[in-house]
Amino acid sequence: MAFAITQTCCNDATCVSVCPVNCIHPTPDEPDFGTTEMLYVDPDTCIDCGACADACPVDAIFPADLLTGPLQVYAGINAAFYADREPVASVDPAPNFHRWSPPTFDRAIPSDFAPPDIAVVGTGPAGMYAVEDLLLHTNARVTLIDRLPVAGGLVRYGVAPDHPATKRIGETFSRLHEHPRLKMRLGTEIGRDVSVDELAERHDAVVYAVGASSARRLGLDGEDLPGSIAATTVVAWYNGHPDVPANAVDLSAERVVLVGTGNVALDVARILTADPDDLAGTTIAPHALERLRTSKIREVVLLARRGPEDAAYTSPELLALAGRAGVPLVVDDADPRTTAAIDVGTGKAALLRDLGRETVDWTVAPGSDARRIVLRFHSAPAEIVGDTQVRGLRVTGQDGTVEIAAGQVVRAVGYRGVPVPGLPFDDDRGTIPNTAGRVDGRSGAYVVGWIKRGPSGGIGANRTCARETVATLLEDITSGALPVRARRSPVAALAARFRER
Ligand code: NAP
Repeated sequence: MAFAITQTCCNDATCVSVCPVNCIHPTPDEPDFGTTEMLYVDPDTCIDCGACADACPVDAIFPADLLTGPLQVYAGINAAFYADREPVASVDPAPNFHRWSPPTFDRAIPSDFAPPDIAVVGTGPAGMYAVEDLLLHTNARVTLIDRLPVAGGLVRYGVAPDHPATKRIGETFSRLHEHPRLKMRLGTEIGRDVSVDELAERHDAVVYAVGASSARRLGLDGEDLPGSIAATTVVAWYNGHPDVPANAVDLSAERVVLVGTGNVALDVARILTADPDDLAGTTIAPHALERLRTSKIREVVLLARRGPEDAAYTSPELLALAGRAGVPLVVDDADPRTTAAIDVGTGKAALLRDLGRETVDWTVAPGSDARRIVLRFHSAPAEIVGDTQVRGLRVTGQDGTVEIAAGQVVRAVGYRGVPVPGLPFDDDRGTIPNTAGRVDGRSGAYVVGWIKRGPSGGIGANRTCARETVATLLEDITSGALPVRARRSPVAALAARFRER
């Protein structure tokens, strides 16, 4: 019986590199890598060795015949990926043997080069994949910096506490913290404690993996009313981020509208409707758990401006939400385009076919005492309504303008990068302008992750992103564009600088 990849797949392709029969696709060198929602095991080629399950950093891979509960669908999901593809056997006469690509040695620095000193700013997935690449493929000495006193970035402060398997990837990253060629400098903020120039002086290259630490705005009237909050704040609150106070999130509203249907919106909807007893024992911040125990929330509305076929969430996350016991997920069927898409559509629209439907009266408070989540599609937010506190959200759609009565509006419309003092910034995209990771107009500076490409893609997407940036950096060293200078320990030099201050 074959293995199958399930809900928590992080797409970082660690499994691909250990599979002896090349039965996990898409591989990083295949065109649809990065666009599929997850990776899939070909059940006809899998030899059941389990190497992928052992290597998976997020515990997503299991023998297909041992899957239970909501994970059972993944046996079919893995097989379906290969259903309309050419069988491997028809293109390869020996399907059970890896079709090895020619070897490439593009990541090595020639041995007559001095070890470069490279700073990586940011300890989230993007920074850590860059660190891993540098430590594994070069003799670089790495200074790892983070503005927070705790390492982990979005793995620590972004991944929802009820996703412990995903959080486990942090263990893979933290093993690198002990590497003899790596020194950490936590609680160090660029622009406050050390400048871009000072960091550049003490290193041959600096890789900025600072992520996207603010939230996109809707640009609507009423956005700054009390009761209007960014999903990024809610996420940071339930993860105990030091920047977000314990009382930052008010749970006194009966109905909460989440604008956006990305995975962040689903995370927030799930946590706000969870049974607090199920969250006890997770990494949730104690203050958040305490507040959730007295929460008045009965209904969370997920608002999409487009139809169910274009929802931003990934299928595994929607399936998990739909399969959760005790909290129904229903679809508001007021717009006939929604029901038509669900009834005859494929892909993400078809995932909603078995859900309950209802024409919700949005002018009144939620009817039932039981908690639930409602998906409303084809509704663009027009105004956040209220005088001194949010009273509702006015939305426009085919059924005209509707005011959804709600005491809390959560904007889950994406993260946004913030400028790093001393580096260029593209204000429209919220990124640092770069070419294949090399910061435009700033020799020796590189970017990786969301600050490089914008705030999209899960954890594993950062691995290929880091690979590109590190390749650019190494190319600059080997071509001589980036001179490597022998120097004493950059961390000691930084420490001396701090002492001076
Ligand atoms: P996202 O996936 O980009 O979703 C943003 C949502 O906001 C979309 O529904 C988008 O609608 C909507 N939106 C944007 N502007 C809007 C506007 N002016 N009015 C109304 N709606 C608007 O962003 P995210 O949820 O922050 O997630 C960021 C990345 O992290 C994603 O790649 C996500 O998959 C990943 N992530 C993964 C997980 C996980 O795997 N468990 C968890 C969290 C995050 P349109 O689609 O119509 O633009």
